[in-house]
Amino acid sequence: MTVTEILKSATARLVDGNIDSPRLDAEVLLAHVLNCRRLDLYVDAQKILPLEKILRFNDLISRRLEKIPVAYLTGTREFMGLNFSVTPDVLIPRPDTEILTEFVGEFLRTRGNSTFADIGTGSGAICVSIAKFIKTARAVAVDVSPKALAVAELNARKFYVDDRIEFFCGDLFSPLEGKIFDAIVSNPPYIPTGDLPTLQAEVQSEPTLALDGGLDGLNFYRRLAEASPKFLATGGLLAVEIGINQASTVKEIFTRAAFADVEILRDLSGLERVVAATI
Ligand code: SAM
Ligand code: GLN
Repeated sequence: MTVTEILKSATARLVDGNIDSPRLDAEVLLAHVLNCRRLDLYVDAQKILPLEKILRFNDLISRRLEKIPVAYLTGTREFMGLNFSVTPDVLIPRPDTEILTEFVGEFLRTRGNSTFADIGTGSGAICVSIAKFIKTARAVAVDVSPKALAVAELNARKFYVDDRIEFFCGDLFSPLEGKIFDAIVSNPPYIPTGDLPTLQAEVQSEPTLALDGGLDGLNFYRRLAEASPKFLATGGLLAVEIGINQASTVKEIFTRAAFADVEILRDLSGLERVVAATI
């Protein structure tokens, strides 16, 4: 079988299985098995594939049909131009989170030697990217899941920023008593508990701990707003990602917690994505 033929048959299987982006997923998985770039699949379209590669690819397609996300099958996902390692113990980093990451990175750049805390670090996507791009920044990263922290630490080593990030396991700020930061960044769980069963099957295969924001989805914003001031330097920044229709309530929560200049930022598709405020 050639590359072209196997991609065609795998795409047809994924279409039948109601997978959202069948051709793209088939290409990403085949490139993973062949250890090449997606572009190379076009260059080598007529190449005959060894049986062992065909079997491995078909097995991945079968698992994709069980709605396992592509990133869990390949073990990687690109974020901020970096190829992050991911496992089913972490949320798969979303392009939506790049705006929060860039915003906090720019804020830290203006403050020179600076420190920040990434609360609910998951794969480490946010703190590792900021540390990679802002060489003057140092971070602490917290997660309640030890397995997620192991992935974050792996990513910090992978991108050579492990000397500037300290990792702590615990509930929100509990491991950070007495520390002061220039910025606190978080993409907390924000899905209302009752909505979890309605999520796409792929999202449901991500850790519930990474998604469940409590009854109204806003638990973590209330806790972050209340606890943050004592961990922030004067003029320090609290910036969080938010879900659909949460902007105005989160803005209100921050304002009530005595934050000033509460700003709402939109993502590239025009959706309200980030609430940021200084103290
Ligand atoms: N920062 C990553 C990103 O943006 O891709 C992961 C964000 S994920 C939505 C939220 C993370 O918060 C998960 O890794 C979860 O384990 C962690 N988390 C949940 N409850 C927590 C708590 N009480 N304290 C600290 N981390 C928590
Ligand atoms: N953005 C995730 C989703 O697609 C939710 C992540 C979170 O709760 N922070 O549903």
